Amino acid sequence: MTRIDDLPIRDELRGQSPYGAPQLDVAVRLNTNENPYPLPEPLVARIAERVAVAARQLNRYPDRDAVELRTELAAYLSRTAGHRVGTGQVWAANGSNEVIQQLLQTFGGPGRSAIGFEPSYSMHALISRGTGTGWISGPRRDDFTVDVAAATREIAARRPEVVFVCSPNNPTGTAVAADTVVALYEAAQAARPSLVVVDEAYGEFSHRPSLLPLIEGRPNLVLTRTMSKAFGAAGLRLGYLAADPAVVDAVQLVRLPYHLSAVTQATALAALEYTDTLLGYVEQLKAERDRQVAELRAIGYEVTESDANFVQFGRFADSHAAWQAILDRGVLVRDNGVPGRLRVSTGTPAENDAFLDAARTVYKEHQ
Ligand code: PMP
Repeated sequence: MTRIDDLPIRDELRGQSPYGAPQLDVAVRLNTNENPYPLPEPLVARIAERVAVAARQLNRYPDRDAVELRTELAAYLSRTAGHRVGTGQVWAANGSNEVIQQLLQTFGGPGRSAIGFEPSYSMHALISRGTGTGWISGPRRDDFTVDVAAATREIAARRPEVVFVCSPNNPTGTAVAADTVVALYEAAQAARPSLVVVDEAYGEFSHRPSLLPLIEGRPNLVLTRTMSKAFGAAGLRLGYLAADPAVVDAVQLVRLPYHLSAVTQATALAALEYTDTLLGYVEQLKAERDRQVAELRAIGYEVTESDANFVQFGRFADSHAAWQAILDRGVLVRDNGVPGRLRVSTGTPAENDAFLDAARTVYKEHQ
């Protein structure tokens, strides 16, 4: 049998495992930060309508520049994220992972490096590796906030070309203050002109306003967003960025022609028509997230402050054993490898109750 390592693959990929959470068939799945609410039926019907129109032209390539979609995404950001952006400042791709990949293909690559403050979203490191970009694991405090002094020292010493700031941070839920982002940006520009990527995949769930206004006057600052979480459309695969128009022009150098299918564009446009309804679900999820935090604390857990649609909790003597014990009670959560901690996504009230019951039972045996 031929194994991967028998193939002439790139040396840095040898012995690596692909990214992915277990997709187990469990009653309550709270492990991938999905939105638990299916899209409302009128939106499903609207998607069918718009996709039918697109289907009649599937013999043609889609709009390569996705202008209508980018215009609507710009309008959405302008209305909800505290800063006006135009079509030329927005770019979209198949999930924010693809946006991040395009950014690393453009600004990273062989001989260059990227830094993130860990624990953080592990795909930042993995996509860096996949694009031949060196990875630097930057520091975080014990309470999972970014230590500005330590982070800026690291940036000055290592001079990375790309700096990732994940806010709210996955898997900890921690939001990053605007003045911290500004300090990191200034440190990064002082070291060398470098790109600062603020990953705001969970931005809509935060107690704090979006960091979008920071792109003003900072051409090397990029904000990334996704429709996977707040819009409840993880299956759609639609992520986007907002930045100076020059950044949008730059990623054109690496994007595949017609990367965003006509079906994807039509579906995303339909979902954007239902923004207000979908943001109503976000409000319910924020309240449920705050309830998860409060109830976990009442049980006795140590809980990290959360601005996302998930909560990090612990501490466990053996987090994998605790993960298994919760799974044995029919609830799938995530072990992200943060010592002593697990992460649970915010589900429906019934799912959260099932999780809290399991967490209550497990608490006694696994502290
Ligand atoms: N950024 C962060 C911080 C995430 O947690 C995720 C999804 N888990 C993504 C980006 C990627 O999301 P998508 O590709 O679905 O837009």
